[in-house]
Amino acid sequence: MVNTLSAGDHVLMYETGHFASLWFKLAARLGIKAELLGLPGAEGWRQGVDAHKIEERLKQDTSHSIKAVCVVHNETSTGVTSDIAAVRRAIDNAKHPALLMVDTISGLASADYRHDEWGVDVTVSGSQKGLMLPPGMSFNALSPKAIEASKKSTLPKSFWAWDEMLEINKSGYYPYTPNTNLMYGLSEACDMILGQGLDVVFKRHVRWGEGVRAGVRAWGLPIQCADPALYSPILTGVMTPEGVDADAVRKIIYERFDCSLGTGLGKVKGKMFRIGHLGDCNDLTLIAALSACEMGLKLSGVQLNGSGVQAAMDYFSANPVPALIQN
Ligand SMILES: *Cc1c(COP(=O)(O)O)cnc(C)c1O
Repeated sequence: MVNTLSAGDHVLMYETGHFASLWFKLAARLGIKAELLGLPGAEGWRQGVDAHKIEERLKQDTSHSIKAVCVVHNETSTGVTSDIAAVRRAIDNAKHPALLMVDTISGLASADYRHDEWGVDVTVSGSQKGLMLPPGMSFNALSPKAIEASKKSTLPKSFWAWDEMLEINKSGYYPYTPNTNLMYGLSEACDMILGQGLDVVFKRHVRWGEGVRAGVRAWGLPIQCADPALYSPILTGVMTPEGVDADAVRKIIYERFDCSLGTGLGKVKGKMFRIGHLGDCNDLTLIAALSACEMGLKLSGVQLNGSGVQAAMDYFSANPVPALIQN
């Protein structure tokens, strides 16, 4: 944002969950006029980006005051993966010049993502999710149009400034001291991921998601993502029944079984928990996580329809993968 925009610029964002909301707050702090689309209340946190809403809004903007459309690819707070190619089509259908900016911090290296093919102008990601590294590095992928826009942007920037970075990157260096230790880790992670092949890595995550959701369905609990076409291959949000505090369930699971689950964030705090199935895990770690959940839910007095652990074991057994792609 600081590289492409100027104070008072207008951007269009879409509220899919907590990370989209945080991006909206960040824009406001930078002095950008951000407009948020999406369903009101917690219901919008069960859906992905509705590209038609973006198209409609852009068509109204005949003066082209909107400078960027900003969407989250994989919404880590809910387990909903939005269709980024559809957002590109919406912008093109509206014949609007806005930049397309995408947060794929949790999507990168776990879910299919195509910066060039989908016509994204600015992609942002980080080291700490699908790349299996500690936090501490973030990445931008840029289109020529984004680099053009950066030449006119007047927001203050120094550490994050692309101009210095692009110039010195040509010779393989950084304008300052990079996180060298993590770069060795990144090189290793890329070798692992590319050694298996990205398509294999993506299929592995889809399969894990299917197995975990088979478990959640067997319990009879609702999945946070209300649109099966947008189920995240990266994590699954599990809604607890009315009156059951999801954080109290998480606490029991953590204290009794030493299994740490993601909390419900923002609007869904206390209403759901998250099971991650990304990066360095395998069928057995997921079965273990599901068994911790199943025991913790029962200890919390939640009535379950059946065994999610059994359902996940059945799914994984019936859908074998070559040993090579386990992890
Ligand atoms: C983890 C995550 C972030 C936050 O990354 P930080 O490095 O903690 O700022 C932002 N967006 C998404 C979608 C994420 O999953």
